[in-house]
Amino acid sequence: MRQTIVAGNWKMNASKEMVGALVTGILSGMAGVTAKVIACVPFPYLSQAETLAAQSPQLSIGAQNINTNPSGAFTGEVSAEMIKDFNVNYVIVGHSERRSLYGETNEVVAEKVEAALKNGLTPLFCIGELLSDRDNDKTEEVVGKQVMAVIERLGIEVFKEVIIAYEPVWAIGTGVTATPEQAQETHAYIRSVLAEHDSDIAQSTPILYGGSMNPGNAAELIGCEDIDGGLIGGASLEANSFLQICKAG
Ligand code: PEP
Repeated sequence: MRQTIVAGNWKMNASKEMVGALVTGILSGMAGVTAKVIACVPFPYLSQAETLAAQSPQLSIGAQNINTNPSGAFTGEVSAEMIKDFNVNYVIVGHSERRSLYGETNEVVAEKVEAALKNGLTPLFCIGELLSDRDNDKTEEVVGKQVMAVIERLGIEVFKEVIIAYEPVWAIGTGVTATPEQAQETHAYIRSVLAEHDSDIAQSTPILYGGSMNPGNAAELIGCEDIDGGLIGGASLEANSFLQICKAG
């Protein structure tokens, strides 16, 4: 039985005041939430968010990116070791914005998964196809390659410690959500790719859906057999919307 996981991706949105209000708001509405909840905040706010969330066993804090190197001459970058130093246990890796805006390839993303795991961070490993891929019937090929890049570098066993987030790029921040049928079909395919290597690991790996999930569509999406929760962008910036999604699981 896989636990439902709901993770918020705040992207580059925060201020000290907002972090205080949003984390406190989430904490005050956690009664009745059975899902594991994670808020992925911008680097400068990790410490503030982690200190506030430390009151709750249900809310964890995550980062949104890491460098693959442990330390050194990488101006402006942040390592997995540094994230861990703040008692933070999760990190988003391979978000489509990083793939498209910062040129992260499947191989770089696999290296980041490795760096996260080496430092005891659970990666929220993002995959997903472009609209043109879907239109050209390439969804399975694209997400299959994204998953295989990690299996080829690190082996199937690492998926005991990895959370996959399937995020069709055309659904991120657009208000267009994959239908439950489209999402379920791709989630089942992702699980089948894992199952070719280890059927037990395939069954236990959490696969979250991301892409314009909101309080109105969350229950139906999370209710699908192979959808184990959500990675939420826009709707995670408002405590009530986020909590409604957390309760949908
Ligand atoms: C995301 O950024 O991962 C995301 C799913 O965004 P949104 O929910 O706004 O589509």
